[in-house]
Amino acid sequence: MAKQYDLIIVGAGMVGSLASLLLANSSLRIALVDRHNGDYALSVPPSYDARVSAISCQSKALLEAAGAWQSIPQNRLAAYNNMVVWDGLGEGYIDFNARKTQLPELGHLVENAILCTSLMTEVKQSSNIDLYLADEVENHELSESGVTVSLLSGRQLEAQAIIAADGALSKLRTENAFETVEWDYGHQAMVATIEIDRAHENTAWQSFGEEGILAFLPLPSVDDRHFVSIVWSVPPQEADSLMALDDQAFCKRLGYAISQRFSVLDITTDRQSIPLRQRHAKQYVKTGIALIGDAAHTIHPLAGQGANLGFGDVKALVDVLSKAHRRGEFLGASRVLRRYQRARMLDNIAMAAGMEGFKRLFGTQQPLLVQLRNQGMAHFHNNTSLKEKLVARAAGLSSFS
Ligand SMILES: Cc1cc2nc3c(=O)[nH]c(=O)nc-3n(C[C@H](O)[C@H](O)[C@H](O)COP(=O)(O)OP(=O)(O)OC[C@H]3O[C@@H](n4cnc5c(N)ncnc54)[C@H](O)[C@@H]3O)c2cc1C
Repeated sequence: MAKQYDLIIVGAGMVGSLASLLLANSSLRIALVDRHNGDYALSVPPSYDARVSAISCQSKALLEAAGAWQSIPQNRLAAYNNMVVWDGLGEGYIDFNARKTQLPELGHLVENAILCTSLMTEVKQSSNIDLYLADEVENHELSESGVTVSLLSGRQLEAQAIIAADGALSKLRTENAFETVEWDYGHQAMVATIEIDRAHENTAWQSFGEEGILAFLPLPSVDDRHFVSIVWSVPPQEADSLMALDDQAFCKRLGYAISQRFSVLDITTDRQSIPLRQRHAKQYVKTGIALIGDAAHTIHPLAGQGANLGFGDVKALVDVLSKAHRRGEFLGASRVLRRYQRARMLDNIAMAAGMEGFKRLFGTQQPLLVQLRNQGMAHFHNNTSLKEKLVARAAGLSSFS
């Protein structure tokens, strides 16, 4: 006998877990399936996980509504109030300040494993969610009357719709023939945690230059020792040669790439190198299925917006499905799911286009373009209202649509 649910969510990463919690708050019965076992290896400060995310104000509010933000230990959160961006090939410089834009902070940095652990703790306490961990969808069938799923473990599930939150390489997206527009950014992102010689001033530092796109993202300090997470995007060949350097030589190159604003003392994690690909599904929904998070879109991490866009999808989907549920509508009906697509697609495309534009603008070293770029940055730096608009957008407090 198949177990009955309102919704089956596949993927209990940040996006799928948040979706399950907020939908469960709307009295929906949820099955949450993930091939992972739900235990995330947590490092102990001053060692921090190499994978971190900048979480916007709107995303924080959603995580609070799900009860997951409150259980993140304070010593694993770093608020940042400023962001400084400069052009390593010229004088171009822009700073963003939370106080000037009436925000308590621009965002928070949190390790992905810590965030997933807090979400998983809440999921386990929800009486409306059944968790199927270390398990996968073996077969599924979509129809006008709902979805039937067989898991590898042999369990059978039925629901009105299935939500694909199974990440960038979504199997559900492929199996249901969702077309995508995608291309390689021609960049690898190297990530690691490093120790620096002085306080990071609760500031996210970002350099665009000859050495690629490099961010120093603040992490909590411990006993007067200061740490940042780096995201360093460079062409693949360059990434290979940087990854081949020993720690000392890598730290030296980092100091140079960050224009010697900091001395890099040590690397406290392994370095990881992640290929970057722009991907966008042409449709987010079909009868009985919706894509959310990285399953629907991936973008360059230069503005730290990928998970925040996924959380924006969650907000829209929860609004649509909880209203439809109250009205007694069938949740898998395409006319219901299309409301979610309409609410999100324009915003996600606009953000993806913005990231592509940034990457191309800062990827060039042609003298004329570099000069124009620097003039543009100077103009932007002095335009307070434009800066306020961009900060509100990055914080998730306004949309393009
Ligand atoms: C270098 C880098 C830095 C980034 N920095 C930021 C940042 O600062 N801020 C930000 O907002 N975003 C950032 N991002 C983007 C962010 O990491 C992603 O957008 C986010 O992790 C996507 O979450 P997700 O839950 O959609 O997918 P995932 O995190 O990929 O989760 C997918 C889940 O599905 C499960 N799964 C997959 N396939 C199956 C299957 N067949 N069956 C069952 N389960 C399955 C997986 O086990 C996993 O738990 C960054 C990305 C990169 C590469």
